[in-house]
Amino acid sequence: MASRIPQEFINQVLSRTDIIELIQSRIKLTRRGQNHHGLCPFHQEKSPSFSANHSKQFYYCFGCGASGNAIGFIMQHDQLEFRDAVEYLANQLGLELPVDDNDDNSILYKQLFTIMQEANMYYQKQLRQSQDAKEYLIARGLDGVIAKTFNIGYVPDGWHNLGQQFTTDQQQQQLSQAGMLKEKSGRHYDTFRHRIMFPIRNTRGQVTGFGGRSIDQSTPKYLNSPETLIFHKNEELFGLYEAKLLNKQCARLIVVEGYMDVISLHQFGITQAVATLGTAINRNHIQKLLRYTNHVIFCFD
Ligand code: ZN
Repeated sequence: MASRIPQEFINQVLSRTDIIELIQSRIKLTRRGQNHHGLCPFHQEKSPSFSANHSKQFYYCFGCGASGNAIGFIMQHDQLEFRDAVEYLANQLGLELPVDDNDDNSILYKQLFTIMQEANMYYQKQLRQSQDAKEYLIARGLDGVIAKTFNIGYVPDGWHNLGQQFTTDQQQQQLSQAGMLKEKSGRHYDTFRHRIMFPIRNTRGQVTGFGGRSIDQSTPKYLNSPETLIFHKNEELFGLYEAKLLNKQCARLIVVEGYMDVISLHQFGITQAVATLGTAINRNHIQKLLRYTNHVIFCFD
């Protein structure tokens, strides 16, 4: 979704971002008069030649010549493309990138996020109405508060729960594109049946996919959404959104194996836990983690 970001929005992000605070979330700075100084993150050095100025909202290194504003710093430091850097800073401010209404892709993404959110609401409602599902969670040690924190839901047994809930052709098409419905001989049926549903949220809190755990003996025990336009299993980290939400800054992030590990840790007050989605940890995951913390702990069985 590579639409243009309006200049007005970029200006707004820059004017509300404090470059000193931003740089200090990545490297140590010491204040001296108007400037803040530190060891340059962009070249090797023993004495500080990197400085940042609050009133100019600008950084400069005498050693290697690196310079720029907050967007430039994040692009260079976190190795992000321009668009991703603006999006990152906007998210830090609680802003969303504006949707370009003339861009078909942006509209489609927005529709898919909306239908996933609605499916999530539906699953949560089903959980409230199912004694079996609630008892299952309680037996696994979860309480209602944590279920709400993670927006955990439930899908009853049956092939057409979503199909009966979302009846228009457009809704069914969107659910198919989002991996929630499958098709056989022209008929749609639900991807997830008789499972506890864990929504997987991106760092903006949008539901991109689901992990479903069977509550009978059916296999697989855990089923994830298939790859879609909005869901990329190799990039998402379950629990990262919640960790960001509950911690102003993450001193550390603990990588554990599964949804239930993340949720159980949260319930016992350890709110900085994340999990990959049944895949091995990779470069994308690590880069993502290092955007939010300097200290990653791996904790596998
Ligand atoms: Zn430098």
